[in-house]
Amino acid sequence: MITHNLGYPRIGINRDLKKVVEQYWKGEIDKTKLDESVSALKVMHWTTQKNAGIDMVPSNDFSLYDQVLDTAMLVGAVPERYEELFEEEDNKIYSYPIDTYFAMARGLQDEDHDIAAMEMTKWFNTNYHYIVPEFTPDQEFQCLSSKIFDEYEEAKSVGVITKPVLIGPVSFLLLGKEKDAPDDFHRLDLLDKLLPVYQNILTKLQNMGVEWVQIEEPFLALDIDEDTRGAFQKAYRALAEERSELKLLLTTYFEGLEDNVELAGDLPVDGLHIDLVEAPDQMDTVIDALDEDISLSLGVVDGRNIWKTDLQKAAEFIQQAAEQLGNDKIMVAPSCSLLHCPVDLEQETDETALPPEIKRWMAFSKQKLDELTLLKKFVGSSLSEEEEKLFEQHQADISGKEESGLVHNKNVQKRMQLLDGEMLHRDHPYNERKTEQEEHLDVPDLFPTTTIGSFPQTPEVRKWRSEFRKGNLSKEEYEGRIEGAIDKLIHQQEEIGLDLLVHGEFERNDMVEYFGEHFAGFAFTRHGWVQSYGTRGVKPPVIYGDVHRPDPVTVRWSSYAQSQTDKPVKGMLTGPVTILQWSFVRDDQSREETAKQIALAIRDEVKDLEEAGIQAIQIDEPAFREGLPLRRKNWNHYLEWAVDAFRLASTVVKDRTQIHTHMCYSEFNDIIEHIARLDADVISMETSRSQMELLEAFVEFDYPNEIGPGIYDIHSPRVPSTSEMMSLLEKAVDVLDASQLWVNPDCGLKTRGWEETVPSLENMVSAARQMRQKQ
Ligand code: GLN
Ligand code: ZN
Repeated sequence: MITHNLGYPRIGINRDLKKVVEQYWKGEIDKTKLDESVSALKVMHWTTQKNAGIDMVPSNDFSLYDQVLDTAMLVGAVPERYEELFEEEDNKIYSYPIDTYFAMARGLQDEDHDIAAMEMTKWFNTNYHYIVPEFTPDQEFQCLSSKIFDEYEEAKSVGVITKPVLIGPVSFLLLGKEKDAPDDFHRLDLLDKLLPVYQNILTKLQNMGVEWVQIEEPFLALDIDEDTRGAFQKAYRALAEERSELKLLLTTYFEGLEDNVELAGDLPVDGLHIDLVEAPDQMDTVIDALDEDISLSLGVVDGRNIWKTDLQKAAEFIQQAAEQLGNDKIMVAPSCSLLHCPVDLEQETDETALPPEIKRWMAFSKQKLDELTLLKKFVGSSLSEEEEKLFEQHQADISGKEESGLVHNKNVQKRMQLLDGEMLHRDHPYNERKTEQEEHLDVPDLFPTTTIGSFPQTPEVRKWRSEFRKGNLSKEEYEGRIEGAIDKLIHQQEEIGLDLLVHGEFERNDMVEYFGEHFAGFAFTRHGWVQSYGTRGVKPPVIYGDVHRPDPVTVRWSSYAQSQTDKPVKGMLTGPVTILQWSFVRDDQSREETAKQIALAIRDEVKDLEEAGIQAIQIDEPAFREGLPLRRKNWNHYLEWAVDAFRLASTVVKDRTQIHTHMCYSEFNDIIEHIARLDADVISMETSRSQMELLEAFVEFDYPNEIGPGIYDIHSPRVPSTSEMMSLLEKAVDVLDASQLWVNPDCGLKTRGWEETVPSLENMVSAARQMRQKQ
C-alpha cells in the first residue's frame, strides 16, 4: 500500500508565488530571478511532501498561473493572436515562452501590442478559476512546452522521484470552447489530432524512466453523452498502444463515477483514483467494475476543506478495499488536489482569530500529508509508540469537536426545529405588495435609479479599518470617520439625483467576512489563503458551529445613513447561500442546515432593519448559481433548499418593505423558475456586457417582479455615455414592461475610482430621466 498526493498548493507559505510573479510583471525582477525563486518554491514543496512520508509525490502540479493554461502550452493550443508574440520571444530560460504565456492569461497592452486575454471560468464547483482553451476547426497540436519533463528532472535532481500530473486529452478538450467555428463543429472532433501529441508526451516520459503518470479526467465523474463516452474509449485505447512500462493513474474527483463506472472500469489504464469524500458510496461499485490487476487510489482525506480526517473511519474504507483487491493494489490519497486547501495550519498563531480549541479540529495541506502517513501506518499496524499517541490525540480531537459546546447551541437547534413553511412566505403576493410599496417608498414609478451597494473603497478608508483593527484607532474615532464617509456619500448621491440611496459599505472589508465577524459560529485565519486565479487568492472564513446573530450588525450604519436624508436608503446584506459558498463549511451537518442557520441570523437583521425604519433591504446572492451541484440530478434538491434559505432570510418583512436581491452573472436560462421563487420584489444583475441578452430568460418565463438589468459595466474604468445606457434601456423596454424596470450599474462600485464613478452615475441618472419622459 502506498500513499500519494494529487497536487500541493503552489502559492507558498507566505504567498511567495504571488510576490515573485507580480514583481516579474512589474519588471522588478528578470526571468532568471523568477526562475530561481520559483524553483526554490517547487523544491520546498517536493521535499515537504517527501519528508512527510508521502510515497509518491506529484510534479507538474505546480503552475506559474494555471494548470489548464500549462496544458494548452504543452500541446501547442496557442490562439493565433499570440503567435507574433511567441515568435518575438527570446526564451532561454523557460520550458515555454513565458511572456506569451502571461499574455494569454492577462492580455497584453503596450506600445506595440493590444491583444486580449483568454477567457477565465470556474474550475468545476470550486472557487479556483482556470483559463479556457480556445479551439478552432483547423486547430493543430504539437508539443510546445517541456515543463512536464523539466519538472520531473528538477525534482529528481533533488532526490525526489515524482509522478507527473497531466490533464487527460478528453477533459482538456471539454474544458475549452470552440472559436470561429461552424455550429456543427465540436471540440471533441479534434481528438484524433490531439492524441498523437499525448502519445509522444507519454512515450517521452516513459523513456525518462517515469513509473506513474496521474492523468486527470474529472469529466468521468460528470454527466456526459454517448459521444463523450466514445471519445474516452478511443483516447485511452490509443494511449495504451505504445506504452509498456509507464503506468497511467486515471484520476477523477469532485463527484462519483456513477453511471460512468463501467466505462471507467473498462479503460485500459493501470490505476483509478476516486473521490471518497464527496462520493463515499461509490467504493463497492467501483471495485466491482475494476479489472483484476488495476490499482485503486482512495481519496479519503478531504482536499477541499480544513477539518481533520476521521482516520478510524478512513481506515475502514481502506481495509475493506484491501480485502477485495489486495494490499499492493491500494493507494491512499487526498480526495482531490490540495490546491483548494490552505498551506500550513501551524502559521495560525493569532488566537483571537482562531481559538486553539477550534484550531485543534483543523488540518491544512501540510497537516493532511501527515494524516496520510499516519493512516498508512495505522492500517499496516506499524505505528511507533509515539505515533500511537499522535493517532489517539488526533481521534480525541475529532470526538472533542462532536461534543463541543462551541459547536452546538441549544437555542439555534430549537429555532431550527421550529422552522415551518409559514416562515417562507410574505403576507401577500407580489402584485399586492407592489401597490403598497409604490405608496410608501418614495421613488419614481418609472425607471427608479439605485446602485448595488458599495462605493469606491479608497486607500484612506481601508487604512481606517486596519488601524481600528490594530487598536490604533478608538471605536469612537473609527465610527466617526465611517459616519463622515456616509454623510458625504449621501449628499453626493442626492446631488447625482439617485432615487434609492445606499450607505456605501465603507465599514466592510469583504461582503462575507464582515458578516462572519459579527455572527457566532465563525472563525478566521490570518494565513489561510487559497488560490482563486493567477496571483489572486481568497481567505475564506471557517464556519465551525451553529450560526446565530448575537447583536444587530448593519442597523447602526443603515439608520445613520437614513437619518441624513429624506430619500429612502436601502439596507445591504449578504445572503445565506453566498455566505455558505464562500466559507469553509462544517462537515458534521448538511450544507442545507448550515445555510438555514445563516438565513435565520439574516432574518433577525432584516427584521431589525425594518423596525429601524429602513424601507428597502437588499440581500445579495452573487454565489447562488455557483452552488449548483455538478450532476444535474442533484440540481433540484439544491435549488429547493437554496431558495428556501433566501426566503427564510427575507420574507419576515411587511408587504410595504421592498426586498431586493443582486446576482453578478448573466446565465439564468436553466434556473429562472427558481429565481422567480425567490420572490424578491426587485432583482438587479449583470447584463451590460451581455447586452441585455439575459433578459430573454425573464421574458420567456414571464417574470412578474421588478428587474434592474445592469446598464453600466463597472468592471472597466470607462465612463458609459447617456445615450449608450439609454439604448440598453430601450432594449429592455422592448421586451419587458416599463413599470418592471429599475436603472442601476451591474455590480458594486467598490473597485472603481471616484473620478469615473460620479460622471458614470450622472449619465445613468440622465438616461433614466430621459426614458421617463419618453414613456
Ligand atoms: N452589495 C455588494 C457591493 O456592492 C455586492 C457585491 C457583489 O455583487 N459581489 O459591493
Ligand atoms: Zn455583483
